[in-house]
Formats: sequence, structure tokens, C-alpha cells
Amino acid sequence: MKKQFTLIELLVVIAIIAILASMLLPALNQARSRGIQAKCLGNFKQIGLGLSFYEDSYRYYCAVYCGSSGVDTSWWIWRFRTAFTADQVSSKKSTNMLICPAKKSEKSYAMNTNAGTIADDGTVSADYIRHYSLVRQPSKTYLAGDSNIQNDVSRWSWRFFPWPLASVNANSRVPDVTAHPGGGSMLYVDLHADVTKVPRLLTDSASEAYQAAWKFRK
Ligand SMILES: [Zn+2]
Repeated sequence: MKKQFTLIELLVVIAIIAILASMLLPALNQARSRGIQAKCLGNFKQIGLGLSFYEDSYRYYCAVYCGSSGVDTSWWIWRFRTAFTADQVSSKKSTNMLICPAKKSEKSYAMNTNAGTIADDGTVSADYIRHYSLVRQPSKTYLAGDSNIQNDVSRWSWRFFPWPLASVNANSRVPDVTAHPGGGSMLYVDLHADVTKVPRLLTDSASEAYQAAWKFRK
């Protein structure tokens, strides 16, 4: 007579499968997160490459935030968007270079506000960099990165604020070093990109280190 599985044997097999699955799933999730993180970092490497072309054309001057505050079209990143079709931008596809694949939100990246700003009347604040060579710590100073949206602002958040968090209001964006398990993706003034868990942006505007990083060289 053909031997049948007993209920106990069946349960043992199911239990073994369950244990194996529980061991494998976290590893799979981790691998997936790492893949997403690599994609996000790749986005910033591409953005950095684009900015390097800009620098080459403009004698190493910054791509700036230019114009009225709150006007999206003034931001350099908005100009970047013209490289994409409207469809790519509106669909929020994870392949979009301007969107963090972990968040899939068009407000997931931001540029450093102090990385070049020119007002409507053409004036440039001494607190803002105009030329990359003037930044004293280019490999430590954020140019752009994963950002943390404090509130659901109704525009692209390509701007974050390198000043004390205490003064950041509900509509502000800050660098997000928790965007991925390994940290947040950041692009630096020297145009290298990496992932960091520690906010290396100098946020205390009163500190000497901040002044040294952001003030122009004499
Ligand atoms: Zn990201």
C-alpha cells in the first residue's frame, strides 16, 4: 500500500518551510533596499555629471537658485526638468532621476539653499557661494541630497536650509540622513556623491566651521 503523509509530517514540512522563509525574507528585503539605495545614489551621480557640464561651460560658477523666492521655475533643478518629458516628470516613475526611488515623491530631493542664490534685482548675498572654488570644504558641503519634507508643501522641494534646525519652519526641508537603511544620498560641492548616516552639513550658522565653509575666501 502506498504510504500517505501523516498530519504530523505535513506540519513539520510546513514549519520547516516557514522557518526557511522567515530567514530568507529579511535578507531579500535588505537586498531590495540596497538596490533602491544604489539607484538613488546613481541619481545624484548623474545630477553631479550634469552640473559638471554646467561648470565647464560657465567657468566653475554655481548653478544657482535665481529669482523670486517661492517661484519654482527659478530653481536650477527646475531647469533640469526640461531634460525630461512632461510625462516622465508627472508619472513619478522610480526611473526618474529627480525622484528618490524609496519615496517616489517629487518632493524627495532638495538642493542646498546656500549653494548659489541670486535675488530678483541681481544682488548676491555674501552668505551664498557663487563659485565652487570659494567653498572651503567642498568634499563636506552638501550641494543637494535626499530631503525630509516637514509639511506637504505644494511645490518641488529642491531647496533645503543649512541653518539651525530650530529655525526651520513647517514648510522647510532638511537633509534626510534616514532616507535609506544605509543613510541619505548626498551630492557634495566637489560633485562626488555618497551615502551618509551622519548629517555632515554644517547647520550652525553661528559656528566658525560654518562660516569657514560658506564664506568666500579672502
Ligand atoms: Zn534616496
